Amino acid sequence: MKIKINRQAKTKPYRFMEVCGTHTNVISSSGIRQMVKDKVQLISGPGCPVCVTTQKDIDLIIGLAQWSNVIITTFGDLMRVPGTKSTLEREKALGANIQIVYSPTDALTLAKNTKKIVIFVGVGFETTAPAVAVTILKAKQQRIKNFYLLPLLKLIPPALQKIAQDPRLQIDGFILPGHVSTIIGSKPYEFLARDYRKPCVITGFEPEDILEAINNLLQQIRERNYYVAIQYKRCVERDGNLVAQDIIKEVFQPIGAYWRGLGLIPNSGLELSKDYESFDARKYFQIDVSEPKMQPCRCGDILLGLITPKECPLFGKSCSPSHPVGPCMVSSEGACAAYYKYEQ
Ligand code: SF4
Ligand code: SF4
Repeated sequence: MKIKINRQAKTKPYRFMEVCGTHTNVISSSGIRQMVKDKVQLISGPGCPVCVTTQKDIDLIIGLAQWSNVIITTFGDLMRVPGTKSTLEREKALGANIQIVYSPTDALTLAKNTKKIVIFVGVGFETTAPAVAVTILKAKQQRIKNFYLLPLLKLIPPALQKIAQDPRLQIDGFILPGHVSTIIGSKPYEFLARDYRKPCVITGFEPEDILEAINNLLQQIRERNYYVAIQYKRCVERDGNLVAQDIIKEVFQPIGAYWRGLGLIPNSGLELSKDYESFDARKYFQIDVSEPKMQPCRCGDILLGLITPKECPLFGKSCSPSHPVGPCMVSSEGACAAYYKYEQ
């Protein structure tokens, strides 16, 4: 595919942010970043749910794991993310009852088969939220009393608004996440083109999909006609999956949430709505977590696109996948892990 670029319009490369962690992996492993680097700088965004989970939230999970009679259930990626003093992996080795599950339903099944209290750590974006919501519905219908959710789910569009309006970042366009968009559709991103004049493309996960997205972004810039294109038409429609959206709306309501690197973003998280709040672990187990101390890790700057992983002084030295200092090196979708694996 030939990528056309209006050379007169800009001497510096255009800065496009790929929001999804899986896109970051494909871009790194296929060599696309190198291929287009003179004309387009591809910047990794906050698209990995593990990476944007704050140090304070990890501390909170560790606090919950200290309760006797409690089983913490979580997705595996979270185990090695550093909190202020420890990780879930370390706490498990020290005796805390922390179990890896592959879905929230597994956690509910565990609750049905034990007298202990089971807490599911709900980390993820709009992609994960429907499955978590269905599990809460089932827990309510089946009157399960020993199952709780720690709701750490996050919503992508409010985070993109924060990035689009940050003058330091100078993002010229967005490569939008395919999986999140199968749920929410393209409508919730339209403000990016309308209010911020940012071209956007929702794209799939093959290298060809991403190249097509880059081409489309450049075309929108050339024509000064900004909109949300759907390259990933095989899975995404403008309105998204209405059934999944209804389930999310039934169980959750938006709330301000803290993102690693991006801080507090209004309406960017989900909390359980009134009818389901009895399942909220945060409300049932009152745990005070103090403000964490600053760490040398620069994940926050990476998630904002302010620096690339190689610009972090710890990259490949004291921080590597076997000894990760920050979450971007832990998660398989993290930008630092992708750079370490493919772009050293
Ligand atoms: S949840 Fe889906 S869309 Fe989001 S980063 Fe992961 S793979 Fe990409
Ligand atoms: S290289 Fe390690 S310390 Fe540096 S930003 Fe990435 S995860 Fe954090």
